[in-house]
Amino acid sequence: MASLSLEHVTKVYPNGFEAVKDFNLEIQDKEFIIFVGPSGCGKSTTLRMIAGLEDISSGTLKIGDRVVNDVEPKDRDIAMVFQNYALYPHMTVYDNMAFGLKLRKVPKAEIDKMVREAAKILDLEKLLDRKPKALSGGQRQRVAMGRAIVRNPKVFLMDEPLSNLDAKLRVQMRTEIAKLHQRLGTTIIYVTHDQTEAMTLGTRIVVMKDGVVQQVDTPQNLYDKPGNLFVAGFMGSPQMNFLDAEVEVQGDKASLKIAGQSIELPPAKAKKVIEGGYAGKTVTFGIRPEDVDDSEMVVNTSKAVFESTINVYELLGAEVYLYFDLDKFPITARVDSRTTARPGDKVKFAFDVEKIHIFDKETEKTIT
Ligand code: ATP
Repeated sequence: MASLSLEHVTKVYPNGFEAVKDFNLEIQDKEFIIFVGPSGCGKSTTLRMIAGLEDISSGTLKIGDRVVNDVEPKDRDIAMVFQNYALYPHMTVYDNMAFGLKLRKVPKAEIDKMVREAAKILDLEKLLDRKPKALSGGQRQRVAMGRAIVRNPKVFLMDEPLSNLDAKLRVQMRTEIAKLHQRLGTTIIYVTHDQTEAMTLGTRIVVMKDGVVQQVDTPQNLYDKPGNLFVAGFMGSPQMNFLDAEVEVQGDKASLKIAGQSIELPPAKAKKVIEGGYAGKTVTFGIRPEDVDDSEMVVNTSKAVFESTINVYELLGAEVYLYFDLDKFPITARVDSRTTARPGDKVKFAFDVEKIHIFDKETEKTIT
């Protein structure tokens, strides 16, 4: 069993800086957990504490049922793949993968079996005699993975393993890692600041900010039901649009006043806003770019229609990003590439009211 648990884990560096604050997480066997968040939020520090490369200042770390706070890294049954996958340049691919096993005095025949098995999984069989300098970036990355795989660990820790690769290779290796997880059936904890990697790879994602866990959930839930403004803005690209709106309540109906116009909220959302006591208050209104549409059909049937002048038009192939302002707030719409809207045009937009997010302006917590 490769379950892991972190209970009230904290990291205070010797200079007094608290990099990780009261981190709590239960990781089940075979999960693919992603730590994501902006630079400096404490992702790597948390991973390094799990690896045993960094002391835990307070709290408990368990692998299975065993408390491992004071267990040496090599005795934790975990393998770590770093972003700077330093391979030994003078050794062949085979020897790079075999090195750790040789150190541990594993019998030669067994080493051979393990290295060849890993090479097969990673499609490195034809490259076993090559030296690292004769490999592409992606191939080197696979060798680094191979070194971890041959150890047959219960848990893989990966710290931005794709960050040194070019965009195309990143996408390719991303799929490789997803396949690897399925094939090996091990628990993986993976650090990235790339939310596409987080969304596509994770069974669950831990979003961090300033050393504090903001939300732990499946990719879909994080995207559809962000717990606060930070998570809403961090997950999704282009990011969610935010603007100020005033809540107007009449009986059991509630509307948001935006740019001088009222949008009536669907009943479930109205209920949350009314029950929260937001009548007459200013809240933060959030809407994802894909929920802002300029197509005639949608605009003609919507009750939340606005007009603005296009500032910027960006064609991305199948879709177009349109940028405009509403009540001085910048808005991005992600629309079909058949749109005829161009910079300078006055265009009507509809918001999908079912997809509206509303946040408390002070606490930044999600209201609905
Ligand atoms: P990145 O994506 O940039 O790698 P991260 O989320 O992995 O960021 P960490 O490397 O965990 O962030 O660092 C968290 C915070 O702890 C940062 O503010 C960093 O400056 C600080 N920090 C890291 N190592 C030390 C150290 N040895 N002493 C003091 N502070 C440190």
